[in-house]
Amino acid sequence: MKLSYPITYIKGVSVQRATLLYTELGLKTCNDLLNFFPFRYIDKTAFYKIKELQPNSSEVQIVGKITRVKSVAQKRGSRLVATFQDATGTMELVWFKGQKWIKDALKINEPYVVYGKLNHYNGFFSIPHPELELVTEYKKKLQTKMQPVYPSTERLTNSGVSNKLMRTYVQYLLEQVFDGIQESLSQEIINDFKLMSKRDALLNAHFPKSQENLAKAQNRLKFEELFFIQLQLLRKKLINKTKIQGFIFENVGENFNTFYKDHLPFDLTNAQKRVLKEIRKDVASGAHMNRLLQGDVGSGKTIVALLAMLLALDNGFQATIMAPTEILANQHFIAVSELLKGMNINVDILTGSVKIKKRREIHANLEDGTLHILIGTHALLEDKVKFKSLGIAIIDEQHRFGVAQRAKLWGKNSPSLALPKEKGIEVRNRYETARPSVYKLMKELQKDRKKQTTEAEQILWEQLKTKKLDIKFRRQHVVDEFIVDFVSTSKRLIIEVDGKYHNTKEQIEADELRTQILTELGFKVIRFTNEEVIGNIENVTKKITQELHNSEKSLPFGEVGGASLPPHILVMTATPIPRTLAMSVYGDLDISVIDELPPGRKEVKTVHRFDSNRLSVFKFMRDEIEKGRQVYVVYPLIQESEAMDYKDLMDGYESISRDFPTPKYQISIVHGQMKPADKEHEMQRFVKGETQIMVATTVIEVGVNVPNASVMIIESSERFGLSQLHQLRGRVGRGADQSYCILLSSYKLSPEAKTRLETMVETTDGFKIAEVDLKLRGPGNIMGTQQSGVLDLKIADVVRDSKILVAARNTAIALLQEDSNLSKPENKNIKSAYLEMSKTSKIWSNIS
Ligand code: ADP
Ligand code: MG
Repeated sequence: MKLSYPITYIKGVSVQRATLLYTELGLKTCNDLLNFFPFRYIDKTAFYKIKELQPNSSEVQIVGKITRVKSVAQKRGSRLVATFQDATGTMELVWFKGQKWIKDALKINEPYVVYGKLNHYNGFFSIPHPELELVTEYKKKLQTKMQPVYPSTERLTNSGVSNKLMRTYVQYLLEQVFDGIQESLSQEIINDFKLMSKRDALLNAHFPKSQENLAKAQNRLKFEELFFIQLQLLRKKLINKTKIQGFIFENVGENFNTFYKDHLPFDLTNAQKRVLKEIRKDVASGAHMNRLLQGDVGSGKTIVALLAMLLALDNGFQATIMAPTEILANQHFIAVSELLKGMNINVDILTGSVKIKKRREIHANLEDGTLHILIGTHALLEDKVKFKSLGIAIIDEQHRFGVAQRAKLWGKNSPSLALPKEKGIEVRNRYETARPSVYKLMKELQKDRKKQTTEAEQILWEQLKTKKLDIKFRRQHVVDEFIVDFVSTSKRLIIEVDGKYHNTKEQIEADELRTQILTELGFKVIRFTNEEVIGNIENVTKKITQELHNSEKSLPFGEVGGASLPPHILVMTATPIPRTLAMSVYGDLDISVIDELPPGRKEVKTVHRFDSNRLSVFKFMRDEIEKGRQVYVVYPLIQESEAMDYKDLMDGYESISRDFPTPKYQISIVHGQMKPADKEHEMQRFVKGETQIMVATTVIEVGVNVPNASVMIIESSERFGLSQLHQLRGRVGRGADQSYCILLSSYKLSPEAKTRLETMVETTDGFKIAEVDLKLRGPGNIMGTQQSGVLDLKIADVVRDSKILVAARNTAIALLQEDSNLSKPENKNIKSAYLEMSKTSKIWSNIS
């Protein structure tokens, strides 16, 4: 029997049951079942003493004597209670059913082996409905081993698939395949970590001989699981590094240096310097950068991003920052414009609320390269937004964007149009010097091209736009400095239709020059006359098809004219991801961390207060406002109960308005149902200091920077997640003054909510908070991990098994250093297991 066989090959598994096992547990093949592990074991190998019992020991086996049996009346009927003791203590055995029969069977003062689930109440232990066996009987029987208990569902149990049945399936399977189970690790790794063999590990994970064997088996399987994931991620990273080319920013030029010398308003922290170095190394390497920058709120990521962008500019490229909200994009725009004041750099902003006319202007400036830095929201992702040569894309607050959106940024250069500026300049200058008059005419003709569409162009476009040729063409598109009629960016094919200006010898010469330059820039140019197109369009499309076919072979990706490269990507996030998790989720990415706050920051003082303390909180607010400070009051807005939340917000606003009356106090309000322009207006009033209080929902969570705001009050704080609370608190503590965060809650707190609030009061360290968050919520709920598929772990747990993870990762690194293709004979086990796994792996690539 092979492991790839469907589970119907297992004795007793009918097609019906197989379907059920698949829909309920995802089990399809024998291999799936073999790797479907028990979630606990019934341990009948160990005996406990009553004194040793812990409130958490779930199932226990004890030897002792029953000294007394009595019936105790209760609300409905009665229960049978036996006093049970051993040399160390006393406990109770309890029955609610079958009392009469049991009472008669129980033997007083005879040694019994008792087994069952332990209950604990007021320091006293009991076992309801225990299994009981006289020691004399017990000794006659074969000793039972640890028994596996498999995860199950109600539907399965109702359909008769009991745990006992599952056990027989697995047992049958193991008998069939045991001898054929292949070792998947090298002898060296097995020796180094004293691992159990794969075969024994699988056997013992299902049917352990002892606790000790079980631990060894689990350790081995966890190591293996994490090891192969790391191997895949690391190999992907290796391939990205060597296969995906990136633009080379070799110059640290005027923009960077001038800014650094004359405009930088403060010294960079060491952490900022280190990260900048890491980025510079990446962008100079010739490989594509795909880097995650983690830094707590207020750690100063923006300035690092700006310097990276200046590096791009110095090398003839454009740069962009994409932010998740309009407010944040605006803040970046203001901050960046401010910092770059006096430098000759054009910065603009593109968001959903930018008017058409301005939008067109931006599109044009982007395509001709006069706009250097564009900041925006997801409006940047629209197809119309095309850069002349985008060198770096920076994504702020990563978790707000979906994977697909991020992937789109890769294509922003209409791939092959991403020519390094110098290349174009160099080629053009050469021709201009060599043939000045033709060159001039060429430029003039270009202007006319822009103006009108001819009938022939229209006819051809009808053909091209339907994608009959399987290829996407763009029309009237900018390539280097030229506007071409049609271009397929992926095939680097330009199609031009000669209009009425192509009659004289000079004009034809100018067209030839144009073709020559474009060819040198790595494009294939084909030309048709008006007559050809109008007269025989079939013939024209046939020629294009042929050309596409030819170009297939002749233009390997990314080699000609330095074109076809995606921009470098820097993803910035203020939601720290614990190291171990980052390793398993982003193992194929490079990670930079700013782990140091700018000097002079005072830690935000955080307290937890109950709703009944609101009056004193208001008094505190008044005092702070008296000192000239500003205050945020934030309400939760969680989708399911939006209407109710909205009411809470409005009630809160009213009550604050009553306690802080105009004209002495001015209040801003911002929430999700407002129009962007209104939001912006209210926000600006607060930023300018016209209002002292900002009442808001979590829309202000991300990035807002008002240094004078020093008090953050969070209403119903028990309803927020930890990372959200941390983000919100990050809005204050940005200026020189002592800042405060007050977490208001009701008295009713779930244990988890309590832990969250306590954690917030205890620490301001984003990484510590992230660790707690991970423990509370499990890795699946941490932002950004859901899509990755990496956390579909069968046996390991990235939180609990972080030590094994680190060991597995280091082992994988060492292995790849020695044998990156796994071609050495001693690694053949690893290789074949790796190949087998990569067939089904869904680890996702390329984009952070
Ligand atoms: P975040 O990492 O949350 O995006 P920002 O980039 O907005 O942080 O920086 C927060 C504040 O700290 C800004 O006002 C910025 O000007 C300031 N800042 C950044 N780096 C430094 C530094 N090295 N020294 C002093 N202030 C700094
Ligand atoms: Mg920021």
